[in-house]
Amino acid sequence: MVAALDADAVLVTHGPNVRYLTGLASSNAALLLPAEGAGILATDSRYALAAQRDAANTELIVDRYAEAALTAEMARRGMRKVAFEAHEMTVDRHCELVRAAGAVTIVPFGRKIEALRSVKDAAELELLAAACRITAQALADILPQIRPGMAERSLAAVLDYRMAQLGADRPAFETIVASGPNGAIPHHSPTGRPLRRGDLVTIDFGAQYAGYHADMTRTIAVGEPAGWQRDVYDLVADAQRAGIEALAVGADVGDVDAAARDLIAAAGHGEHFQHGLGHGVGLEIHEAPMLGYGRTGKLTDRVPVTVEPGVYLPGKGGVRIEDVLVVTAGTGARALTSLAQPSTTVISANSELLVL
Ligand code: ZN
Ligand code: ZN
Repeated sequence: MVAALDADAVLVTHGPNVRYLTGLASSNAALLLPAEGAGILATDSRYALAAQRDAANTELIVDRYAEAALTAEMARRGMRKVAFEAHEMTVDRHCELVRAAGAVTIVPFGRKIEALRSVKDAAELELLAAACRITAQALADILPQIRPGMAERSLAAVLDYRMAQLGADRPAFETIVASGPNGAIPHHSPTGRPLRRGDLVTIDFGAQYAGYHADMTRTIAVGEPAGWQRDVYDLVADAQRAGIEALAVGADVGDVDAAARDLIAAAGHGEHFQHGLGHGVGLEIHEAPMLGYGRTGKLTDRVPVTVEPGVYLPGKGGVRIEDVLVVTAGTGARALTSLAQPSTTVISANSELLVL
């Protein structure tokens, strides 16, 4: 990878990429990855023991200024050209990097490590599956507690707490609970609004486990849903099924998005579904590949992605359904987030809509 660039090394500064290549999770670490030989990892003293334990295959430099320490190493080792991660570099830091590098030429590297990361090995898939199991189990466990009068924020806290009890490191992102009209806002932050009879409630959440991020959304009805609520739910569920069926090794990411989006547009709701259909998950909650209109690229074996169509009706509410699936040779895709049917809820006759 580095040799093909015609560079002597890559300076890796994006935290998840450093973790991927070394095993070290640190908020202050950088890796100088030479074309040949061991990587040189720099981090500060807070992470020194963790680095010795988790990143044993690297040369370790303990320095508060990790990037500066590695920049000095470039010159010391006689490197002439080093690539850097331009997508993860401020203008300030770049100026400093170029200044301190002196005679070393600094060139952009692109998102090549992100591309490597999109394909998971068996151990990674196991960790992601564990994150997804915790996620689905937590929702199943707390469903009986959801009732009218409960605030969005309380529901989010109960769910986060249950995920922690089940072994999550932390929530993979800020849990979204969007009730009633708030459901029209795809990334609504939970408020003190109490759930009311007649609401649809969208819950988008996930556990982080051993660094891997799960992502799941369910929309539930509080009380018997109105006709329009059932119609929108069934449409989104159909769109999700179409998107999932389009997942396959070799499928184009734009075509997968279109499989779901075309159904929603044909039902007259095209303008009410404005985000992409899904995204990769792994050491980051949103990572390559992106499934969306105007996106290009082919899916490959062992790539986990979300499929999460939604319909958002301003002033009324919304529906989103999201699962994590692993694109798998031969079978199309394997779901990692599936909700065991909880005994205390009623599954309506015509759809999977959970009615409390
Ligand atoms: Zn989500
Ligand atoms: Zn998502």
